[in-house]
Amino acid sequence: MPLRDIPSVEQLLQQAGPLAAEYGRPLLTRAIRETLQDVRQDVQAGGSIPPQQETLQQVRSRLAGWTQATLEPVINATGVILHTNLGRAPLSRAATRAMQAVSADYSTLEFDLQTGKRGSRLVHAGQVLKELTGAGDAMVVNNCASAVLLVLAALAKNKKVIIPRSQLVEIGGGFRVPDVMKQSGAKLVEIGTTNKLHLHDVNEALEENPGALVMRAHRSNFRLVGFTEEPGLAETVAAAHRHESILLDDLGSGALMDVEKYGLSHEPTVQESLAAGADVIMFSGDKLLGGPQAGIILGRADLLVKIRKHPLARAVRADKACLAALTATLLHYLKDEAEREIPIWRMISTPLEQLKARAEAWQRETSLGEVARSESTIGGGSLPGETLPTFVLSIPVSSPDKMLAKLRSHSPPVIARTENDRLLFDPRTVTEEQDQILSRAILALQIQR
Ligand SMILES: *Cc1c(COP(=O)(O)O)cnc(C)c1O
Repeated sequence: MPLRDIPSVEQLLQQAGPLAAEYGRPLLTRAIRETLQDVRQDVQAGGSIPPQQETLQQVRSRLAGWTQATLEPVINATGVILHTNLGRAPLSRAATRAMQAVSADYSTLEFDLQTGKRGSRLVHAGQVLKELTGAGDAMVVNNCASAVLLVLAALAKNKKVIIPRSQLVEIGGGFRVPDVMKQSGAKLVEIGTTNKLHLHDVNEALEENPGALVMRAHRSNFRLVGFTEEPGLAETVAAAHRHESILLDDLGSGALMDVEKYGLSHEPTVQESLAAGADVIMFSGDKLLGGPQAGIILGRADLLVKIRKHPLARAVRADKACLAALTATLLHYLKDEAEREIPIWRMISTPLEQLKARAEAWQRETSLGEVARSESTIGGGSLPGETLPTFVLSIPVSSPDKMLAKLRSHSPPVIARTENDRLLFDPRTVTEEQDQILSRAILALQIQR
């Protein structure tokens, strides 16, 4: 077949009119050029010229591929509440609204309405944080990892930092407490053994290393069980203060509420850390706080002045959308409505019978599998090994991995888990608005009954 019978770019551009409105002319032209190149190669290799409709279809899929979002919402049916790979905590309605409002318009990010002069972004969320926790001062940065880096750089550069061996944790993604210390210019002084730390270890280290700081890093993603011992935070703080040292507490999750009432084991709270006298504490915004990605630093006002002045503070500052969403999230705690309004707390506190009823409704709608007891997890490097009883829809399938892939290619994608050749769908992490979509996604799998 002669190459000159292949349509020209101009011809196809005319045919593809509506696509130009959707994707813009330059991108459409590029897609047509590349598609025609393929056709030419095909023809040279002895193939025939495809019908115009087919060529246009190829142009269309090229454009769709190029403009496909890589960051998009998914339905989390895994039952892992703080799923780090799925973006950790979903936000409350108020937080989402606040984020949208300051993003779509100008805002008072660094503007004081009273004086009409330049303000500071550091005031946002700070007031509510102080109100909520009674901390001397507060500031917000990009995430907890940057909070730890900034605090160490500002307070412990060229100084020694005493930390128990059992707390030299790796958070994930290569974030290791010893490496962060090195980055900040602090010198690590390890004390105790992997399983045991005595108060006299702390005291001795403080005596041997005058001017050293003391740090605690919460073991947020693993548990230490068996023959173990560790002094309480208040005792450790007292030892540090007796030696005119300060204690930095990397709390990780930063729970503002007790989790025991939901049948989970104790997670240190921000209030406890402050009550124990920790001088500076750091925690995440998107773990058990249930807000946006953020790092929160609370503590003694004189120390926070130094932290704010450090050049790294600018490098790790929080953006306006984060500050707006965080403030809105914190207000839920202040107004005692966290359990009702913050999605992760609503998920954690959902009564078992409600979960069962929803799993049963999915079963009825799909006529597939059966409702079974299972477990939801907190995830996100919070409360390791802790589970909440739940009910799942459990569907036996012959090729579970293929089914999981099919669910992922659904629009919106559905993320589920498998166990012993069964697909499991946990209602705890699925919102009620997503119920219908999920049932339809399951039906689309066309599983044989
Ligand atoms: C999760 C965690 C961090 C890191 O928090 P990000 O907000 O993810 O940066 C730091 N320290 C501890 C103890 C953690 O659990």
